[in-house]
Amino acid sequence: MSITVGDVVDLGRGLYAWLPPKRGWGLANCGLLVSSRGALWIDTPYDPFLAGQFLAESQKRLPDGVDIDRVIVTHANGDHFWGAGVLPGAEIIATREAREHIHYDPTPQQQHALVAGSDPSTPLGAYLGRHFGAFDWSTTEEVRPSTYFSGELELTLGEYTVQLSSLPPAHTGGDLIVHLPAQRAVFSGDVIFSSTPQQPGDHPVHWAGPLSNVIEACERVLATGAEVIVPGHGPVLDPAGVREHMGYLAYVRERAHALHAAGVPAVEAARRVIGEARYPALGLPERLVVTIGSEYRHLDGSGLPGVLEVMADVAAVAHETDASCAGGPA
Ligand SMILES: [Zn+2]
Repeated sequence: MSITVGDVVDLGRGLYAWLPPKRGWGLANCGLLVSSRGALWIDTPYDPFLAGQFLAESQKRLPDGVDIDRVIVTHANGDHFWGAGVLPGAEIIATREAREHIHYDPTPQQQHALVAGSDPSTPLGAYLGRHFGAFDWSTTEEVRPSTYFSGELELTLGEYTVQLSSLPPAHTGGDLIVHLPAQRAVFSGDVIFSSTPQQPGDHPVHWAGPLSNVIEACERVLATGAEVIVPGHGPVLDPAGVREHMGYLAYVRERAHALHAAGVPAVEAARRVIGEARYPALGLPERLVVTIGSEYRHLDGSGLPGVLEVMADVAAVAHETDASCAGGPA
């Protein structure tokens, strides 16, 4: 797989969204806000190559003498902040709770070694190679936010206001949403993964939950009154698109609770929900293993497993699904 460069969408009043050209693990949307007095990013691409491309696109839109000196990180998954190294010296802003998730995930170089060294004859190795092999973190230093906050934080950029709100655990522990009132826009991070008939997206993957918190986060996005919602992944939405996405979340939550009550183990519950194929246009259905696993942990009161343990289950279910589609092992 090779990665081509994404599109920049002009959302008006100095706000731009950079959308990767296709769906898939790690291909996240990013934002650029420009004023005559400064510029900032909302999230970064996953690796230095993609971040360099987004930087080149951003620089075309900066007035003379203006640099990008702040990065808002919607949450601490690498696909939203590991590209920050292309802006040395920038202030990197995240929630206090995001710090814990940084320690849960591997560092960029650990992840690079893991993907490069994985055995393609195993389902996990094949899965990591297929979905993460095109990224390059061989020289990516760990990114450490420089500003942590809890609750709300309001920033000013020239004539614009940027409102950050931290959320209870949802996609991860430590998510935030970015509201830009003048632009009537919200960058939601990964509490929303979008899909439209023209641009089908992927199944969401939620590491923390419970899903009721993810649904409440969507309510919070709608409560801003924003007309333009840039999700963490997938096409830009309007409020009706967010409501539709909340229907997806409610469905997965309802199925997880029913299967849990019936005594079905979590991975098997994910297999059954995948088998129901209620959202056949969405890619990466195996990510339901993560989301349903997170919901089960809340129902059971159990702790967070290691990320590799979770990904091994994801890869095994993907392998079964591919095998059943192709009529043989993929
Ligand atoms: Zn993401």
